[in-house]
Amino acid sequence: MTTTQDVTDATAADLKALAEQAGRELEDASALEILQWAADTFGKRFCVTSSMEDAVVAHLASRAMPGVDVVFLDTGYHFEETIGTRDAVDAVMDVNVITLTPRQTVAEQDAEYGPKLHDRDPDLCCALRKIKPLEEGLTAYAAWATGLRRDESPTRANTPVVGWDEKRRKVKVSPIARWTQDDVEAYVLEHGVLTNPLLMDGYTSVGCAPCTRRVLEGEDARAGRWAGRTKTECGLHG
Ligand code: SF4
Repeated sequence: MTTTQDVTDATAADLKALAEQAGRELEDASALEILQWAADTFGKRFCVTSSMEDAVVAHLASRAMPGVDVVFLDTGYHFEETIGTRDAVDAVMDVNVITLTPRQTVAEQDAEYGPKLHDRDPDLCCALRKIKPLEEGLTAYAAWATGLRRDESPTRANTPVVGWDEKRRKVKVSPIARWTQDDVEAYVLEHGVLTNPLLMDGYTSVGCAPCTRRVLEGEDARAGRWAGRTKTECGLHG
C-alpha cells in the first residue's frame, strides 16, 4: 500500500505509474472505494474540484475524508444559482470550500481585451478565467477529483477512474466515471445531496452564464454548453 509519505517524496514519473496502476485496479471499484483510495494515498494533497452543478462528488469525498478541500472556480460569469449552491455546500457539508478567482475581474479583462471576450474568443476567455487559475490553485495538490462521466459526451467516453493529467502532472481521479445520469439522480435522492436549482429549470450541464443555455428535447447533456460555437470543452479536461 502506498502511504501519504511515499507520495510526498514521489516524482512525477512515480505518480504517473501509480495513477495508471490504480486506474487498472480500481476500474470496477465503487466511487466511494476509489475516493477512499485517493484519501488514504494523498491525504491533504488531494482535493475535489466542483462546478457546483451538484455536490455528488464532494459528498462522496467527504465520506471518505471529512473536511476534504473542495475547489470551486469562480470565473465571475456564474449564474447566481451556482454561487448560491457553492455557499450552501460551504454552510452545510463537512468540506473545506476553496474559491479560486482569475487574476483579472471581468471589468479588468474587458478593459484589456474588450467586452464579451467569451463571444469573440472563448478559448482565450476560458484560458484566462478557468485554466490558469485552476493550474495555480492545484499546485498544492498531488491529486484532484472531478465529476467527469463517460456517458456525458463522446469526448469523455474513455475517462479512466484514475488517470494521469499530463498537462498539470497530477493524478486525476474520476470516481463516478462509470455512473449514468440515473446513478447520479439516485445518489442525490438517497443522500439528500445539494444540487444547482438550474437542473430543475431545463439545464442539464451548468457552466458560465454567457456560454450555457437550456437543452432541447433529444439533445445530449452538454449540448447547452458553448452552443452555436465549435467549442465543446473549456480545456480543463483536455
Ligand atoms: Fe469565458 Fe464562457 Fe469560458 Fe466562462 S465558459 S470562462 S464565460 S468562455
